[in-house]
Amino acid sequence: MAPHGSHGSSGSADDSPSARTSVDVHAARVDAALEPLRTRALESVELAHALGRVTFDDVRSPIDLPPFRNSQMDGYAVRAADVASAPVSLPVVAEVAAAAGAPAPLRPGTAVKIMTGAPVPEGADTIVPVEDTLAANDYVSISRGREAGEYIREPGSDLRAGQAIVPWRTRLASRHLAALAAAGITDVDVIDRVRIAVISTGSELVAPGEPLGPGQIPDSNGVALAAAAEAAGADVVLHARTHDDPPQLAALLDEAVALGAELILTSGGISMGDHEVVRELLEPLGAVVDVLAMQPGGPQALASWPGLEGTAAVLVVCFPGNPVSSQLSFELFVAPALREIAGLPEAGRETRVLDSAVRSITGRRQFLRGRRTDGGGVTTVAGPSSHLVAALAASDVLIVIPEDVTELAAGDSVETWEL
Ligand code: AMP
Ligand code: MG
Repeated sequence: MAPHGSHGSSGSADDSPSARTSVDVHAARVDAALEPLRTRALESVELAHALGRVTFDDVRSPIDLPPFRNSQMDGYAVRAADVASAPVSLPVVAEVAAAAGAPAPLRPGTAVKIMTGAPVPEGADTIVPVEDTLAANDYVSISRGREAGEYIREPGSDLRAGQAIVPWRTRLASRHLAALAAAGITDVDVIDRVRIAVISTGSELVAPGEPLGPGQIPDSNGVALAAAAEAAGADVVLHARTHDDPPQLAALLDEAVALGAELILTSGGISMGDHEVVRELLEPLGAVVDVLAMQPGGPQALASWPGLEGTAAVLVVCFPGNPVSSQLSFELFVAPALREIAGLPEAGRETRVLDSAVRSITGRRQFLRGRRTDGGGVTTVAGPSSHLVAALAASDVLIVIPEDVTELAAGDSVETWEL
């Protein structure tokens, strides 16, 4: 395994594979740094805003479901004993519709016309569906008998008061919201979302859509990382951009902290050139800056930024600036923990069959872009370069080539990660 803990220049000066830190080592240290984020606080949200949130605790119903004895059919509420000798004819003495209030008790030998969902009169123990009846002159002819209890929904037959409607750590979908609403619950306790700040660094960056001066490019990492963070269940509290200017970056980090960020993601400024703003600012504060045995996404860093007075320092996970590198880095190092915290399923991983040969560099875990083909195949999309943002958009999987593999033939199996 490659040596690890190789900080900064020690990892960067030597580009030989053995000098690079393994992907797993960096993944493990980011994961360890993310550990405190797994302890979440409770937040109460209205049902209308609860979709996709994760329950903090079991949510118990304050009432029986259904809450009262009601009819499952449009028909006639009767006593089963009165229709046992069907065909029979019974006088219809009342009518009860949904929301009609408590009906009068049913007298033996009579029928009450009833609608679906309406409360069943006391004394009635079965509902004769309207299809089995013929009404005329305040009488109803009933063609066949019924068992007691038929077509009656008993209170609590779905769920008893005090039972859990939704257990803790459930990611709320529309069906859960329906059950909560049915129990009259308006607000639900969920775990709070991880608050993330996304900072793009680079003097060449402008906001997407701004006219481009010489050498300028739109900041595409910012929107990508913010969206990826949200897709992984996080709350993006800051999404900003800085020139390669340490004081400006420091000001943004302070702003992120002031906004309550628990995790700050940066892109750019950690490779070996001049004007590496993230390194310049954070390395003197103890950032681990490393070059990993992966392609793309070799340069990676992990740092912390002082919290507000009395609070812990805030974790800063730093990705390289190339668009494919930064998106891949997020997926590789940060997304799995965020998804787990947010109760989201793990990203799809599956083995597929290459439809053409590929090469990879010795000692690097390579992530190629690919598209799934019918019948379990995968085809590569464009080359391995890390600036190919459109090719990444045209892909639907990453193809993972392990460190020790340098060549694969058409027909070989590869691991793919769903994008
Ligand atoms: P860096 O990691 O800062 O050396 O940047 C590597 C490459 O990624 C350069 O070509 C940058 O212009 C590009 N890049 C850096 N940040 C971004 C960004 N936010 N959006 C798009 N491209 C970027
Ligand atoms: Mg840069």
